[in-house]
Amino acid sequence: MVSRVIPVDSFDLVIFGGTGDLARRKILPGLFRRFLAGQMPDTSRIIGAARSDLDDDGYRTMIAEAIEEFGGAEKEKSEDVKAFLGRLHYVAIDAKGDGGWKELADLMRDDVVRAFYFSVAPSLFGDLAERLHSYKVAGQDARIVVEKPFGRDLDSAKALNDTLAQHFNEDQIYRIDHYLGKETVQNLMAVRFGNVLFEPLWNSHYVDHIEITVAETVSVGGRGSYYDKSGAMRDMVQNHLMQLLCLIAMEAPNEFTADAVRDEKLKVIRALQPVELHHIVRGQYEAGKDTPSYRQDVEDPRSRTESFIAMKVDIANWRWAGVPFYLRTGKMLKARTSEIAVVFKDLGHSIFPGDHARHRNILKIQLQPNEGMDLQVTIKEPGPGGMRLIDVPLDMTFADAIGEDVEDAPDAYERLIMDVIRGNQTLFMRGDEVEAAWAWTDPIIGGWEQRGDVPKTYEPGSAGPEDAMMLMHRDGRKWLELRAK
Ligand code: NAP
Repeated sequence: MVSRVIPVDSFDLVIFGGTGDLARRKILPGLFRRFLAGQMPDTSRIIGAARSDLDDDGYRTMIAEAIEEFGGAEKEKSEDVKAFLGRLHYVAIDAKGDGGWKELADLMRDDVVRAFYFSVAPSLFGDLAERLHSYKVAGQDARIVVEKPFGRDLDSAKALNDTLAQHFNEDQIYRIDHYLGKETVQNLMAVRFGNVLFEPLWNSHYVDHIEITVAETVSVGGRGSYYDKSGAMRDMVQNHLMQLLCLIAMEAPNEFTADAVRDEKLKVIRALQPVELHHIVRGQYEAGKDTPSYRQDVEDPRSRTESFIAMKVDIANWRWAGVPFYLRTGKMLKARTSEIAVVFKDLGHSIFPGDHARHRNILKIQLQPNEGMDLQVTIKEPGPGGMRLIDVPLDMTFADAIGEDVEDAPDAYERLIMDVIRGNQTLFMRGDEVEAAWAWTDPIIGGWEQRGDVPKTYEPGSAGPEDAMMLMHRDGRKWLELRAK
């Protein structure tokens, strides 16, 4: 199968923080892959901007190294890399000062899409927005892309939204959550709303419960001081897990447009119930044989920040009344996996004598490491001996089903950046969505802070604290095995 590359309009993309970790590891290697795919019109340019004293050549050398390290350039011809580097420019600029802004304004062209990626600390977003406006670098048609974290509570998110709103309209602001750029996340919508099969079953009559897991095997590592100020709830649940929950739970939008989709997601967030204290389990990893504990990693022996959280969440609407959503995410766990499991109800009555096992249909949607879905179905065990039933997966790993082109499909960042150039906001969070997510999150965090709760400890390489198992056991349920597929 030949993958279709839909061309975009010519653009000038300015990456503030163009020398930073995210730009070198994800954004520029991603743009290089889109360039190789033929998706970057000849006249398009990428302009790195940061304080470092570099010229175009110095920046090109830096990015050549980044592409070699992170972009799979060993497979590519050096002429390709050279041609791509020819699209790069650099402006030394200070977000908080006046240096570089006039040069940037002079460099921009009028007849192309102008996009500005804020790949810098959020504390600089306001300065950038203000100067983009005052130096007339960005006009009414310009787009800005802002990175997570978008605030650390409702007040700071509101303040950030207000700051950006002083100079940009909502339809110019692209709040990125790279989970939404994953192929499987979009497939989730295709599967739900493009098939007659699932939607009639997608409700409390047929679904027993839903699990959303984002598990990592890594520790907080070098990000300790940043992480300790946020924790798993702010770093993962408020954004990534919440977005996945919305896509699983939302009603069908009347059309697949940015605002129709985001309106439906917002309704889900607003229908989330406050979470009861005994429905939350927070954890911190202990030291392993050769690995430091969470508290050692963050260099605070009294830290109460969670590196793991599991919670039971209820959505108060007709579709989901009585269906628990179990969320869990954490570091130093036994497998690296992001998975959603829709667990359907038991049959109620089995006509097969001697079959006392619990057979359940489970739709598993895997986001990483391998994107794909499988549907657990019950069949007869092959061979003689009567009707013995077994459960087998109907595997829909995309790479097998669609062919090797899937490997060449854009990754999340590539897809999202191209969506910015196209002006498609469907896979970006709207300001009211982010605020509603914080409005639900704030009292939960406030609750445990007020009580001074101390997270439970868990062994590195485990599935989290024992209490997380109890969270489901108490309901007569069990988490699906934590394993990378
Ligand atoms: P980083 O490595 O610290 O890079 C920060 C960038 O900002 C550098 O290019 C730095 O260059 C530039 N900068 C700092 N102060 C500046 C100023 N006053 N004016 C202009 N440029 C300035 O950070 P990062 O990891 O790339 O993260 C960037 C953003 O992405 C953050 O908001 C982060 O939360 C978010 N994010 C990062 C990741 C990731 O994997 N790294 C993942 C998700 C979200 P100079 O020092 O040369 O000015």
